[in-house]
Amino acid sequence: MNELTYKNKKLQFAGQDISTLTKKFKTPFFIYSEEMLTENYEQFSQGAQKAGLIDPLICFAMKSNPNKELVKILAKLGSGADIVSGGELKRAIEAGIPAEKIVFSGVGKTQEEIEYALKLKGQGLNSFNVESLEELELINQCAKKLKKQARICFRLNPVVQPKTHKYISTGNKTHKFGLLEHDILLSLKEKKYWSHSKLVGLSVHIGSQLLDLKATKKALVRLSEVALKTECPLEFLDVGGGLGVDYHPDETHKLPHIETYMNLIAETLEKAFYAKTDLRPRIVFEPGRRIVAKAGLFVMKVLRNKVSEDNHFVIVDGGMNDFMRPSLYGAYHALLPVKDAPKTQKCHVVGPICETSDCFGSDRPLPPLKSGDLLVLKDTGAYGYSMGSNYNLRGRPLELLLEKKKKIRVINKAQDYSELT
Ligand SMILES: *Cc1c(COP(=O)(O)O)cnc(C)c1O
Repeated sequence: MNELTYKNKKLQFAGQDISTLTKKFKTPFFIYSEEMLTENYEQFSQGAQKAGLIDPLICFAMKSNPNKELVKILAKLGSGADIVSGGELKRAIEAGIPAEKIVFSGVGKTQEEIEYALKLKGQGLNSFNVESLEELELINQCAKKLKKQARICFRLNPVVQPKTHKYISTGNKTHKFGLLEHDILLSLKEKKYWSHSKLVGLSVHIGSQLLDLKATKKALVRLSEVALKTECPLEFLDVGGGLGVDYHPDETHKLPHIETYMNLIAETLEKAFYAKTDLRPRIVFEPGRRIVAKAGLFVMKVLRNKVSEDNHFVIVDGGMNDFMRPSLYGAYHALLPVKDAPKTQKCHVVGPICETSDCFGSDRPLPPLKSGDLLVLKDTGAYGYSMGSNYNLRGRPLELLLEKKKKIRVINKAQDYSELT
């Protein structure tokens, strides 16, 4: 589905004219398409099934976009959740995701969060994805106190180096994530960890925005090797998330198709795991970005122009507090005018925040823009609102959902001054 097209020179998002929206809603705002979110999820899920992966469970990485209405849509499609805090756990449950489809990741789970997860009704979480031995010890103690049994999955640090931004690379020894093989295998011999815990799975997650699958393959081989060495009847192998999207046109030709990704997983596990054991654990995925990035847009209004000799600044009403990826990672996001016209000038599109990094794009070819004109920042569904802040004491922006039946629904109100604390 082509999410962005011009019709009569006006930008349409999944068939919705953007300029008419701004008559009713105040900029800046995020808008998400239910149709695209659904399509991305279905593609991922069907891809896993077509590649013959066993009983796939897709746990949406909630940190990429925890909006309750979006999570509800995914829950109805059968999605599970990958969570990293008690807040995300509560949100996942409220949105209708059953606990047995939830994996709890993160290096810093607190005792309070662990106890909250253990107290859930029913059989509890799919797993605590454990990142250190001290954490395992704490989970075991909490489970003992609450007379529960904790389901444990070790996150393996596979010691690989994927090609991605250093801030979102997670699979090497110098990173705080995951446990080394040696520590996993030693822990299995220590009874103190296992009185109220049971090892049910092994996971890897080597980073985000992965476009080159070489490191992914290596990580899966490592996952298989260590899974075999545990000599435990593991119920699942969790292959993590991280599959990239094409933010920049140059990335489009590198972008792994879902089919390629799934086949790589199937073939690697076949050789490295299934050929050596009778175990047939289910396969768990933790995608975030790939499901939601392209289903969202950020819409901003031009406040004014400013020309400093040969630098032309277009100042917009959205800022790095609303969408942080460009300022935090130098990430590229396409900028599109809502009214199509010849792109006759190169501009720096900047926000109102008092930081030089508050810039959505430098030297971007754009048509002449005047106060009140609209600009759209593309592919902002993932790590957008969720990374936002009130920096400069700005209210958080509005979030809109374009429903399948083409109705617009407010799924999160803009904050006004009275809500700023
Ligand atoms: C962030 C994260 C993910 C999701 O990564 P994406 O790049 O959004 O797919 C999955 N698993 C873990 C453990 C994470 O921290």
